[in-house]
Amino acid sequence: MPELPEVEVTRRGIAPHVEGRTVTGVVMRRSGLRWPFPPDLPALLTGRTIESTGRRGKYLLLRFAHGTLIVHLGMSGHLRILAPGVPVQKHDHFDLELGSQLMRFTDPRRFGAVLWHAHEDGAIDEHMLLRGLGVEPLGTPASTLTSAALAQMLHRQTRSRSAAIKQVLLAGDIVVGVGNIYACESLFMSAINPNTAARRISLARYERLAAAIQQVLAAAIEQGGSSLRDFIGADGASGYFQQNYFVYDREGEPCRHCGAAVRRIMQGQRSTFYCVRCQK
Ligand SMILES: [Zn+2]
Repeated sequence: MPELPEVEVTRRGIAPHVEGRTVTGVVMRRSGLRWPFPPDLPALLTGRTIESTGRRGKYLLLRFAHGTLIVHLGMSGHLRILAPGVPVQKHDHFDLELGSQLMRFTDPRRFGAVLWHAHEDGAIDEHMLLRGLGVEPLGTPASTLTSAALAQMLHRQTRSRSAAIKQVLLAGDIVVGVGNIYACESLFMSAINPNTAARRISLARYERLAAAIQQVLAAAIEQGGSSLRDFIGADGASGYFQQNYFVYDREGEPCRHCGAAVRRIMQGQRSTFYCVRCQK
C-alpha cells in the first residue's frame, strides 16, 4: 500500500511532466473507483492548465485556476507518464491527456479515487477528506516543522489519549503519513514500546519519536527519489520501494540492535513489529 513517501515520490515524479501542461482530454474507462469519477471531468478540465502539484497526507493535488483535482492511490494505485498510444491494460482506469504525453492511473484493487474540488467550494484544506488531517510531519513548502515543534504537538495533543501510541500515530489526526511501516520503525528508533499509552509518554521521549518520524520518512522519500524513473514509461514498476527495515515485517528475526527475536502483535487489526528488549 502506498504510504506518504511513495505518494510524495509520485508527486515529484509526475510534477515536471504535468505542471504548466494543458489538459487535452480526459478518459474514464469505468464510472469510478472507490467513489464515482465526477462525470463532468472532461468538460471541467479540457483546455485548462495544471498550475502546480501538491500533496496533503496521501492525497495528491493537481491545482488548476478553477479548482483542484484530488487523486488518492488507494491500496494499489499508481500513476505513470506515458506517450499517447501506449496500449491500455486491464487495470488502467483513468487517463489525463496532456498533448504529447498522458498521465495514466492504474489501480488493480480499485480503492483509489479521483475527485474534483471546485475553487468556489472554498479552500482545499476544507474538503471533507482533508479537513480532519493532522499536521504534515515534514512541514510544507510554506512552513517548516521542526522535530521539537512536532514533539510538543504530540505531547500536548495526547494528554487525554489513553490509546496506545502506535494507534494514535496511525489515526492520522495529530500527524499524517505515519502509516504502519513508519510507525513501527519510528517507535523502534525511539525505543518506545508500541503498547505504551500515548498520554504516559514524556516530552523527552516524544522528542526522540518526532525526530525518528522525520528521519524515517525523509529517508524513504530520498530512497524513492532514486527510483523516480520507474514512474515514467510503459514498463515502469509500480514505484513502491522496499527498504531495509529495523523491525517491520521481520517477525522472529533478530533485532538489528540487540539480537532478540522481533515480535509481532496485533493492534487494531494491523500487525505491529517491535523488540521487547529495546522498546520499553
Ligand atoms: Zn532489540
